[in-house]
Amino acid sequence: MSTVYPSMSVADPHPPFLSTGQKIATGIGITGLCLMVLSIFNRDVASSSTLFWLSLLLTSLGVVGFSWSQYQSKPAGIKNNGVWFDSLTNRGILAWSAGIIITFFYVCLYWYPQLLGLNPEGANTKIVAFFDPLSTALKGQPASQWFVYGTLYTMAILFFGVKFILKYRHNRYQVLRTISVMFFQLIFAFLLPEFLERLNQPSMDLKNMWPLNYYFFFDWNLDKLINGGNLGLFMLFWGIAMILIISPVLTYFYGKRWYCSWVCGCGGLAETAGDPFRHLSDKSLKAWKIERWMIHGVLVFAIIMTAMVIYTYITGQSQILFLNSYSIREWYGFLIGAAFSGVIGVGFYPLMGSRVWCRFGCPMAAILGIQQRFFSRFRITTNGGQCISCGNCSTYCEMGIDVRSYAQKGQNIVRASCVGCGICAAVCPRGVLRLENGSVDINSRTDQKRTIHIPATEVGIL
Ligand code: SF4
Ligand code: SF4
Repeated sequence: MSTVYPSMSVADPHPPFLSTGQKIATGIGITGLCLMVLSIFNRDVASSSTLFWLSLLLTSLGVVGFSWSQYQSKPAGIKNNGVWFDSLTNRGILAWSAGIIITFFYVCLYWYPQLLGLNPEGANTKIVAFFDPLSTALKGQPASQWFVYGTLYTMAILFFGVKFILKYRHNRYQVLRTISVMFFQLIFAFLLPEFLERLNQPSMDLKNMWPLNYYFFFDWNLDKLINGGNLGLFMLFWGIAMILIISPVLTYFYGKRWYCSWVCGCGGLAETAGDPFRHLSDKSLKAWKIERWMIHGVLVFAIIMTAMVIYTYITGQSQILFLNSYSIREWYGFLIGAAFSGVIGVGFYPLMGSRVWCRFGCPMAAILGIQQRFFSRFRITTNGGQCISCGNCSTYCEMGIDVRSYAQKGQNIVRASCVGCGICAAVCPRGVLRLENGSVDINSRTDQKRTIHIPATEVGIL
């Protein structure tokens, strides 16, 4: 019996029925996740290392198998069919459920880790205990809630990174930068700090720089690095060199994309696990105005907080005018470090798109954006004559940039918020957009328009 589709759209909005391969992969993946969830309720599951490894295996097989079945069996080329018809990607019941579950997980993680099974007094229980085998293997200690989080975060970037690569396999730029974020997350953010801890050395995510790493100048961190021998001193100088030299130089040549789309863990998660939600970003002028106030407001907050922290470290005085440096760092940690970057930044993926944090809150993105806007060679060039105004570029820009309006005018795109993900160029059916590192003309390049514009006064009937 043939299936009848009620829609009359020529673009077939209905790829909703899963193939047999996808159904099997979904079943395998969900079984792996259920084992993890079961560890919260069942002590025997939580203490079984066999079930832990089985859970990891099944979850990875599920995601990779599903992606393989969805993309590899079809010709190369981006498939975003049906994103506006799927409950998960169109703010339906599945999206709200996912948003609530992720948000609840973050709230437990930051403020109620005992609900996840953290027990500083004795043996862990629940899901934290479930991750003990991996933690013991890597750093010789039982897991903490942060280890659970780091592992899940890395798994998400790796598994969904494979999905992303299969989806965009025809586009070299997308494949390379995804391998890059997977590498930096796995080695720099996850494995290296754990091994260093095992060796009783000062540990640090070497790619996580101030102000994203807002506690870099906190007294306990400075003390740890200064008293951490040669390695600690190297990390201290590395962190400062990243802020003052490495980042400005790389941003000058390549724009903020070198960090936001190739290195950063927040960007890595947004680009991989968050890919199905990128079209949900708000493209309105109002959102852009809010974005500018918010992101620069957070940057000012981060600078004031850090200046006070350093002042206290040098002078020993914590009270400056009516502000206390200890309470202001606590407020920053609570509001920005936990609530904004974690709870809202990831929990709201299915509702507001994948770059809510990068776009509205990240002080690192704010600094890089200012430099990109006024002092960088990066731009997206447009071949306006080829644009058919389909709007794919604007739809899939996760930063809410109306790329099409630039393309229609043949105008270069130099925007502080652009993270250089290159998706606008990848989804353009006419090859209109190119990500380039140009040479000079930094100040004049946004004024140039390459299409012919005829004023209304010059148009008439002969
Ligand atoms: S303008 Fe293009 S490259 Fe920049 S953030 Fe948007 S989609 Fe990514
Ligand atoms: S995707 Fe390409 S053709 Fe479509 S509006 Fe954007 S630049 Fe124009």
